[in-house]
Amino acid sequence: MSYIPVIGLEIHAELLTDSKVFCGCANEFGGDANTRVCPRCSGLPGTLPILNKQAVVLAARAGLAIDGRVNNYSSFDRKNYFYPDLPKAYQITQFENPICTGGYIEIDGKKLRIHHLHIEEDAGKLVHDDYEGISMADYNRCGVPLIEIVTEPDFRSVEEVQKFVEQMALRLKYAGVCDAKMEQGSMRVDVNISIMPAGSTVFGTRAEIKNLNSIKAIGRAIEYEIKRQSEILDSGGTVVQETRRFNDNHGDTKALRSKEEAHDYRYFPEPDIPPVFMSDEEIDTIRKSMPEMPNKRFLRYTQEYGLTAEEANLIVSDRAFSDLYDECCFEGKCYKKTASLMLVGLNRLLNDTQESVSDIKFGASELSKLASLWDENKINSNSAMEILERMFRSGGDPAEIAEKNGMIMTDNTDELSGIVDKVLSENADAVEGYKNGNAKLFGFLMGRVIAEVGKSANPAAIKKILSEKI
Ligand code: ADP
Ligand code: ZN
Ligand code: MG
Repeated sequence: MSYIPVIGLEIHAELLTDSKVFCGCANEFGGDANTRVCPRCSGLPGTLPILNKQAVVLAARAGLAIDGRVNNYSSFDRKNYFYPDLPKAYQITQFENPICTGGYIEIDGKKLRIHHLHIEEDAGKLVHDDYEGISMADYNRCGVPLIEIVTEPDFRSVEEVQKFVEQMALRLKYAGVCDAKMEQGSMRVDVNISIMPAGSTVFGTRAEIKNLNSIKAIGRAIEYEIKRQSEILDSGGTVVQETRRFNDNHGDTKALRSKEEAHDYRYFPEPDIPPVFMSDEEIDTIRKSMPEMPNKRFLRYTQEYGLTAEEANLIVSDRAFSDLYDECCFEGKCYKKTASLMLVGLNRLLNDTQESVSDIKFGASELSKLASLWDENKINSNSAMEILERMFRSGGDPAEIAEKNGMIMTDNTDELSGIVDKVLSENADAVEGYKNGNAKLFGFLMGRVIAEVGKSANPAAIKKILSEKI
């Protein structure tokens, strides 16, 4: 039988705060085990949590980044369970009143809805491999602020899930909420998946696959689950609701615990943290400080600036890159030329040197001037790329570099006519061939003339004179 998958996501993202969510310990990745812990985040009795305001603001920014509603009132709850990576034996989370509700990300014209977004604290880490037969507890990650974003079960394909997760990571980065490094675990995805017969509208029983840490693993885990669940249904069995773990080496999923063994978390309101009130004014202030999101920039680039979808996607895929592009465009309005300079020239230079946009020696206004020189036909495309490289290596003003290196294009007809005559007489065979129908030889002759003229060659002017003379 053929089945349709139904998928919903739970995404955990670590917030880029300076300190942890309920104490003053530094919020940093890695470090020697148990060097970033204090009585509060290691759960000693008698200590009290104090909510980090920066975490609340970042969570609100995350909600706004996905077009959700920031609630005026939110509160914290205790989720009780015993595990050695959680020294308090409860996790502080938001259960009844999350900070944000609703929202969506649109992928290929389909709105994939978000149920809610809440704040919670991360647990520590158990290290199993350092000593034979012994597990060690590292509490550095205890109390690192997280948001959890829960979606509606709106996804029907691997592709939708992967594009959504990529877009989510990008939005969180744009908003300055999370660095979204999946390989380092700062963003992790749980996939809930069930299947139903094609044509049906009744959802099946779902399995939850925990902690997927790459786009590829998400795809493989879903494919595996569709196959596993289809085989169960085809042979007359029933899928059981359970939590499963994906094994990246085997490409399969294994049951961790079933619904029957699921914890009863005995949620109750956290008595040590007062509820959070945010006024409409406070929320509005945060809203005003948000950058334009990549999906909006994509529309502006493709609909107003005439870029292709591919060009626009490449530019928005990095906020600093897109900011630089925007700054240039707001000044010079040379949308296409700026895009070429950045996507062709600058990307190659950054790649070669392993530098990032923040290392660049020139500013947006130099890049914008360079794009204008090219756009106004003062220099040709080779010169534009060469000037870009010189600016990249040692800074400088593009117009000056062009002057100094004889790159300002000449359309001095007399001079060009002379050179064209010379090239035509030196390449009589090619001229003959062209006249006998080999159209490609025109390009060859153009190339010869351009080589004679040098850096100031004006291809359009040369083409005109050459066509007249040949
Ligand atoms: P619970 O309250 O048991 O945790 P939720 O309703 O909060 O369940 O859903 C948890 C996640 O599972 C959400 O991401 C949701 O979209 C997804 N989900 C719910 N029902 C299904 C289903 N039948 N198939 C696939 N995913 C589902
Ligand atoms: Zn601490
Ligand atoms: Mg849930």
